[in-house]
Amino acid sequence: MTSNILAIANQKGGVGKTTTTVNLGIGLAREGKKVLLVDCDPQGSLSISLGHHQPDELPITLTQIIKKLLMDESIDIKEGILHHEENVDLLPANIELSGLEVSLVNVMSREKLLKQYLDSVKQEYDYVLIDCMPSLGMLTINALAAADSVLIPVQAQYLPAKGLEQLLQTINKVRRQINPRLKIDGILLTMVDSRTNFAKEINALLRSTYGSKIRVFSSEIPRSVRAAEISAEGKSIFAHDPNGKVAHAYTSLTKEVLSIGKQRQRSQADQLR
Ligand code: ATP
Ligand code: MG
Repeated sequence: MTSNILAIANQKGGVGKTTTTVNLGIGLAREGKKVLLVDCDPQGSLSISLGHHQPDELPITLTQIIKKLLMDESIDIKEGILHHEENVDLLPANIELSGLEVSLVNVMSREKLLKQYLDSVKQEYDYVLIDCMPSLGMLTINALAAADSVLIPVQAQYLPAKGLEQLLQTINKVRRQINPRLKIDGILLTMVDSRTNFAKEINALLRSTYGSKIRVFSSEIPRSVRAAEISAEGKSIFAHDPNGKVAHAYTSLTKEVLSIGKQRQRSQADQLR
């Protein structure tokens, strides 16, 4: 199985990374894909959103897995993986991950620990989605080092110019030094308010600034209280409000992501010819 590893990243907080990880991940599972979601944020929001309301009480999380790698211990591919009823797997995280990040300072190959882990489990999955924390620290670098591509959620309300520039610089640096095949899938506008024109303006600004270099997904995620409710429910928008506009938007994003994957496979096949 060739898997696609996507990092959902933006160092700006509260832009919809976790919500997108949940709903794109479960969207892909609904299309028959085998999906692993990796919580790479010490806040544990992804783990909480998938129904683990006390992530600090989980015995095995990403932290224990990385600690095992650091000690050269072998890892069972099912270790720490939790299954969600909407057919996705989860490797959870909790606050211990922030202690681990600090302790990585003196570790050899510290940027590649998550990659090392995913290399051993990715054959089990079609898609692996990594929910990044709101920073460009070592955990996010690990996610970018492990990923095939990045999806960047941007909140439609704010001009993202500066923060986005910094993220793109980090992506370029990771490409140069660690992961040359890292691609940018695109920018996803989230929390789009249909009563304002912000999204249109920001969309136009992004297109004029990054032009042909970076895709802006044609699917946009509308702002809706229904989307904000799912984290407490521990389920996706497809289970919570299947006929609403947010479910519709995440279905359309899922289709876009699948078609990017197909295009990429085709062009890789062409290159091999
Ligand atoms: P962090 O940087 O803290 O990890 P994040 O980028 O993962 O945040 P989310 O946690 O997904 O962002 O979303 C931030 C807040 O906005 C949450 O309370 C979430 O429920 C809410 N939210 C996400 N998407 C929508 C939406 N489409 N409409 C309304 N509220 C939303
Ligand atoms: Mg989050």
